[in-house]
Amino acid sequence: MAARVKALVAGNWKMNGVKASKKEVAALARKLAAAKKKPACDVLVCPPATLISTLKEAAKGTKVAIGGQDCHAKESGAHTGDIAAEMLKDAGAAYVIVGHSERRADHGETDAVVKAKAEAAHRAGLTAIVCVGETEAERDAGQTLKVIKGQLKGSLPDGASARTTVIAYEPVWAIGTGRTPTPDDVAKVHGAIRKALEARFGGEGAKMRILYGGSVKPSNAAELMSVPNVNGALVGGASLKAEDFWGIISAYL
Ligand code: PEP
Repeated sequence: MAARVKALVAGNWKMNGVKASKKEVAALARKLAAAKKKPACDVLVCPPATLISTLKEAAKGTKVAIGGQDCHAKESGAHTGDIAAEMLKDAGAAYVIVGHSERRADHGETDAVVKAKAEAAHRAGLTAIVCVGETEAERDAGQTLKVIKGQLKGSLPDGASARTTVIAYEPVWAIGTGRTPTPDDVAKVHGAIRKALEARFGGEGAKMRILYGGSVKPSNAAELMSVPNVNGALVGGASLKAEDFWGIISAYL
């Protein structure tokens, strides 16, 4: 029988947001507080690093957690423009996304780099959200499962546990395009991820959260979130406005 796993709905603001955007987190927190029935999921917002402390303050005393979008593998040093996991933690983050396909594509991040970043997150006491996903060409070539298994093998630290690590399956061709895989396709990939996690991490692998990401919106969230082994969502565009993000969180009401 599948392990009971509390879902996570995480918003990735990417390179969007200024101080005034804290009103969206405040609005989200109000919706959460006002809901008669509380959603059966954790809620996370990952803004640009410049906003972590501002949003942490806006979310104070609420159920909204704050996270980073990337971190450096090292704790400190001569790495101009980079941010250590410890700095994210210090600013108020509880999670950090690593290995997002935009980082892999725009910054040439390999599985080994992503793994080092996930280890850094763990070292700092952050939960790492490790992203994997195939490109459209890989999908068309029937390589999806091979690619995903390879990314999991190379990107996940050996000591990963359900508390410290979340997986996000994000088909690259579905990110920001309005296109999504069918629920059957999502079920196949998430089932294969679960199997790989259990084979490597045993009982911890059975409990690790596996998020689906890629064009999740209020209109498709309930269907996607009801797929077996989908334990929440990683949401880009639709997480920027509290109204839309709440529409996705509502899949867990
Ligand atoms: C993402 O960037 O992680 C993402 C899933 O984006 P979107 O929801 O906009 O497709």
